[in-house]
Amino acid sequence: MSRVYDRVALIGLGLIASSMFWAIKRAGLAGEVTGHARSAETRDTAREIGLCDRVCDSAAEAAEGADLVVLCVPVGAMGAVAAEIAPVLDPGATVSDVGSVKKAVIDAVGPHVPRGVHFVPAHPLAGTEHSGPRSGFAELFDNRWCLIVPENGSDRDAIARLERFWQGMGAHTDEMDADHHDLVLAVTSHAPHLIAYTMVGVADDLRRVTDSEVIKYSAAGFRDFTRIAASDPVMWRDVFLSNKEATLEILGRFTEELFALQRAIRTGDGAHLQDYFTRTRAIRRGIIEAGQDTDAPDFGRVRPG
Ligand code: NAP
Repeated sequence: MSRVYDRVALIGLGLIASSMFWAIKRAGLAGEVTGHARSAETRDTAREIGLCDRVCDSAAEAAEGADLVVLCVPVGAMGAVAAEIAPVLDPGATVSDVGSVKKAVIDAVGPHVPRGVHFVPAHPLAGTEHSGPRSGFAELFDNRWCLIVPENGSDRDAIARLERFWQGMGAHTDEMDADHHDLVLAVTSHAPHLIAYTMVGVADDLRRVTDSEVIKYSAAGFRDFTRIAASDPVMWRDVFLSNKEATLEILGRFTEELFALQRAIRTGDGAHLQDYFTRTRAIRRGIIEAGQDTDAPDFGRVRPG
């Protein structure tokens, strides 16, 4: 894979940006990668571990002269960062982002993008429960999807170039409009995270079950919820605040189904429960067939002994 951009600027140096940096280097996709993070501590860590060719003390300094600037900060911080870099953006440059919500980011960032600068929002569907500059790795996006969410009138060449860039980092790309993206992600990511947070919160509140039992017997299913519920609190606060409508719509449906299952349990309606669980099992099979997870038992976890 060859160079797609001469200079890429990564604003925010957490899990996603650090993974992008290592993936860019793996494939030689950029001549130079500059980076900026809000805190001196993160910038120092980045310099120490060689994350970015040049770590800058301001977002504007990192963005100056870049032909691609990617906003990799929490969704709620995107607008302020876009305002800060706007004056230094060159005509013909592309601004993109990796935010987990698209409509709110487009509304916050779009108005700051100067004329002649392309704005092509994107969202890589890849992540872990870890965060910060040390958490990234080059393989994060391999065989994962990156959704490109162009706005009406987005420049086709700028879109194609950004798609090539994500493909170079190992991802498959697809295009989607912002409202549809936010609804799909509410189903596949946002509502499941809220349910995991709730389940772990319930276990924490249930003082009849001691902490040590919750931890000791967690492999019975609870452990998988705890992994999701360990995700970054600021990132997820912003996701729910900015994808309100779609998340509430899905949670409404979830609550209705939960009541139906609750009723089936109370009335002893085994057929309903079995039909339901048969249907859901097929979805798991579909995910494995699509190459989006492993069919090894227990998600491929290594067993002791
Ligand atoms: P992260 O590891 O927590 O890193 C966030 C970075 O943003 C840090 O470098 C942080 O700087 C910086 N930052 C935070 N608030 C800021 C502000 N107000 N102004 C300027 N910089 C700020 O986060 P991440 O997981 O990489 O997520 C980044 C973006 O990717 C989010 O929009 C998220 O929705 C999206 N995303 C995440 C995942 C995932 O699974 N994690 C997946 C796909 C997309 P300091 O370190 O100095 O605080």
